[in-house]
Amino acid sequence: MKTSISLNPTIIVIFGGTGDLNLRKLAPALYNLYSDGYMPEKYAIIGTARRKLTDEKFRETIMDGVNSFSRSGKVKQEKWNKFAEHVFYSPVDVEAPETFGDLKANIERHQKEFGPDTQILYYLAVAPNLFPLIAKCLSKYKLAGNEDNCRIVIEKPFGRDLETAKELNCILTSIFSEKQIYRIDHYLGKETVQNIMAFRFANSFLEPLWNRTYIDHVQISVTEQLGVGDRGGYYEGAGALRDMIQNHLLQLVCLIGMETPVNFDADEIRNKKVDVLKAMRPFGPEDIRFSTVRGQYTKGWVEGKEVPGYRHETGVAPDSNTETFAAIKFFVDNWRWQGVPFYVRTGKRLFQTSSLITIQFKDVPHHIFPSTVTEHWQQNRLIISIQPEMSIRLQVQGKRPGLDMVLNPVDMVFDYKGTYTTESPEAYETLLLDVMTGDQTQFMRADQVESAWELLMPVVNAWESKKSLSFPNYTADSWGPEDAEALIARDGFHWFTLPLNKD
Ligand code: NAP
Repeated sequence: MKTSISLNPTIIVIFGGTGDLNLRKLAPALYNLYSDGYMPEKYAIIGTARRKLTDEKFRETIMDGVNSFSRSGKVKQEKWNKFAEHVFYSPVDVEAPETFGDLKANIERHQKEFGPDTQILYYLAVAPNLFPLIAKCLSKYKLAGNEDNCRIVIEKPFGRDLETAKELNCILTSIFSEKQIYRIDHYLGKETVQNIMAFRFANSFLEPLWNRTYIDHVQISVTEQLGVGDRGGYYEGAGALRDMIQNHLLQLVCLIGMETPVNFDADEIRNKKVDVLKAMRPFGPEDIRFSTVRGQYTKGWVEGKEVPGYRHETGVAPDSNTETFAAIKFFVDNWRWQGVPFYVRTGKRLFQTSSLITIQFKDVPHHIFPSTVTEHWQQNRLIISIQPEMSIRLQVQGKRPGLDMVLNPVDMVFDYKGTYTTESPEAYETLLLDVMTGDQTQFMRADQVESAWELLMPVVNAWESKKSLSFPNYTADSWGPEDAEALIARDGFHWFTLPLNKD
């Protein structure tokens, strides 16, 4: 989160330069940062991957990516040409360390040109099994720098369980200091997610209500209409629990649940978030039975087109036990949240693509209105919509205009589109700029990642060791398995949705 920018000369090395993430997200983000005047005066972007490309060919490849995926549409040619002068390519096979020589020479050439203040950022947009190899090669070739001049960005997934996350942390911290390591969770770079901190801690009216006395329960729902598409091979080794809940959804729980930080220092904020993870109630066998639900989609129809079931997607085993849906009830055992359930759910091939956080407040202590005037009595709700709508709604009871006293729920809405005319940056723009300025606030510290894994390991182990007999158990274009409705209905609630247009 920036207020003013002054950047040292910067070299950005993107491992996986030819991959999907770079073409869809990183290259468009860097080009938009350049277009908006946020890149340093002196910078070089060096893409690397195994295939042999010239600088020119690499520039063309990423221009195609920017043209297809940038929020600002196709590039403006003159601007692009200037940006592209800073873009280079060095082939490297990270499984053959001897191929690092050219990359090292390329980096050193720019370092020499830019001067002693140059900082180097390594972005690891490659398969996770290559993370340790790259870190070790950077160390071997004396490219790992120090706290002041070098940073490394690690994409998700960070480990596939507690043990592998600890191993990766151990390798990284043997080469880099924690201050150099940026474990990215792109959800934290989204405008509406960052606004949760502003909303909670820049306004005084909320804090007295933000606790077990006034809050009934919290729901976090991140749903996707898309299936796994061509990422079936990757998804088979992940599933909804690892791919979404361990990182994005638990981070949202932390933002809602955290205590007020004393300042905006990165470590102070991360301390407060990790406190939430540490306070979350561990899962015993009974909790896994009654407080978790897993699902897998079967075929169905989405907007008039027949779509395959998960087990028929490319790269997926015909008897796959991988969950494409997960719903979990968590508790945060501390003074603020004791007894307040946090329901989270996420899944693919669901009815709607949306990310919603709903805080439902407790009912009024005493109803003074006769039941005849309350058409649709509803407890107050605060709904933070992260996507596709970017808004915060407070749902309150209001009097319908007319001679009779009739009450019904109405929305007080803060809507980004209606309030601001400036377009919101993409999450990757915000986060890449944070890496360049050395701001770790929105990045996961080692203990955050490990605490999240520690919490979920009993569920991971239970789901892996006991194959689901009910899979597939929900139809594409539905809201997931019936058990997920039952999970929340048992407590007297239901999952909230906004009447959003499908996109
Ligand atoms: P991808 O499309 O498969 O790209 C992988 C990249 O790694 C390619 O550039 C590939 O190029 C390169 N590569 C593979 N083996 C290599 C080797 N031995 N040495 C050097 N380079 C090698 O994968 P992706 O979708 O971009 O994902 C990259 C990472 O980002 C993964 O960790 C993924 O989980 C994470 N991520 C991706 C997304 C997304 O939207 N795509 C979102 C969130 C996180 P060559 O074949 O030419 O070597």
